[in-house]
Amino acid sequence: MSNEISIEQRERQATVRAAQFARCAAELAAHLPKERAGGSAVAPAAQQNPFDPAPSADDPYAPELAGRDGLFAAALNSALAAIVADEWPGKEAKRNGYVFPASDLLTLIKKKAQDPTAESVVTEGGAILILDQHPAPAFPAGTPGTIFGIEPRTPPRGTRIDVDALEEGDQQAARSRHGRGQGILLSAHVMALLDLDGHQSLQVLGEHQADRFRESALHADVDFRSRAEAYLERIGEDEAERRADAAASPSIFEHPREECPVCCYETFQVDGYDLWGRVGHGQCLVCAYTRSPDVADDEGFAAHLASLDS
Ligand SMILES: [Zn+2]
Repeated sequence: MSNEISIEQRERQATVRAAQFARCAAELAAHLPKERAGGSAVAPAAQQNPFDPAPSADDPYAPELAGRDGLFAAALNSALAAIVADEWPGKEAKRNGYVFPASDLLTLIKKKAQDPTAESVVTEGGAILILDQHPAPAFPAGTPGTIFGIEPRTPPRGTRIDVDALEEGDQQAARSRHGRGQGILLSAHVMALLDLDGHQSLQVLGEHQADRFRESALHADVDFRSRAEAYLERIGEDEAERRADAAASPSIFEHPREECPVCCYETFQVDGYDLWGRVGHGQCLVCAYTRSPDVADDEGFAAHLASLDS
């Protein structure tokens, strides 16, 4: 009975595992070749373009990405522990709390797939499917003969566990851990790993990727600001004023202009606004500060929240 842990501990473990999976898997997903990811790295395998050439042994995944083996192993271990703990609480760890390695967890899932009493696990199309406990409703059929007359689409019934691909990826990733050089991870291994995100205990990749994009947009903005400040210093106050006067001629530019947050002239030329119509993206005609649409959205959202508060 030493394996009994409180509900709070279970929830905490689930959160940590999902976060660990998200961080590592998102890093791996960011390096997937675009033509294979099909625009969405987390798309279930069933939705991939069937005409994609299958990755082969001479098609290693992101060979330039340092630490990819460790990222793969950490993401796989966390995801499988989260899934097993959610489906069969307690089966993910030994009595002393030591979490089983990925290979053991995959073996357990395979056994469940062969066990007729484990109804939530089935074998389908060469992989194991852990059925959703709360399946999404099927996309309804439209009126035939109209542009809405599309075939009803059935959402995936569960989480695809491509055991063969995951076991092979795990063995490849273990090579560097055991000091036997770099493993040869393939895109297929990483795609199989990303499929795990469909499970209800995870579903964290989309949000994590959005955070990553937002973070990199904000980093870029800091960079734009400091470059604009350096530029402003280089051209000097007189030149900045001369440019501001020249830019004030309304006949040349049709874009609306606002005060620039860097040089403070009314020369920030707005190309468009954020979703809430509060913050513009564009470029300053004096100091060249550039605000990207992503950063405008972010600042616009903050302004929107502030307006709800007041
Ligand atoms: Zn400016």
